[in-house]
Amino acid sequence: MQLLPFTVGTVMTNCYMIFNEKTKEAALIDPGDQAAYLLGQCRKRSLTLKAILLTHGHFDHILAVPALQQETHAPAYAARAERALLADPEANLSGSWQRRPLSLTPDILLEDGETFTLLGSQIQMILTPGHTAGSSCYYLPEEKWLFSGDTLFCESYGRTDLPTSQPLEIGRSIREKLLILPEETTVYPGHNETSTIRHEKQYNPAAL
Ligand SMILES: [Zn+2]
Repeated sequence: MQLLPFTVGTVMTNCYMIFNEKTKEAALIDPGDQAAYLLGQCRKRSLTLKAILLTHGHFDHILAVPALQQETHAPAYAARAERALLADPEANLSGSWQRRPLSLTPDILLEDGETFTLLGSQIQMILTPGHTAGSSCYYLPEEKWLFSGDTLFCESYGRTDLPTSQPLEIGRSIREKLLILPEETTVYPGHNETSTIRHEKQYNPAAL
């Protein structure tokens, strides 16, 4: 499996493309904006978009989904616990912050801990409430990759003053569900730079 990071949209969201070079199949994690650009990135590598994975429902992680689906019919995956926020343009901030109101219905709803196979790899959804009630991370044990959305950042973590935020839960989610992963796991967050579980165990304020 290969990985390419892109930064998209008005608040510099990290969107990640993962792809299988043999089958030429790809998935996008958090396509927050710039659908045409992301489709072009698939096309120039002859990749077929097979899935869209959402870590949570905020506008800056989802705005490109309708246009991508119109072109590719790739199903969108999200935590069942995030369904209400995804559907609500006020709660997902697409209406209030961005004036691009979007109500999104995921095609595949995942439960906490659910594992599925995509592009020939196992992917586990880990529910990590805090930033939003249905925030989740995607863990690929074979690659030792964690896509942590706005839950875990390099030496930081996501805001907890937004609709459905659970300020008392985010530290627990990080400590009990993410920092227990193998230390060599690479952390690919929703904003800013990449990290590792080893680094975050030592330097993340939520680890203390
Ligand atoms: Zn967010």
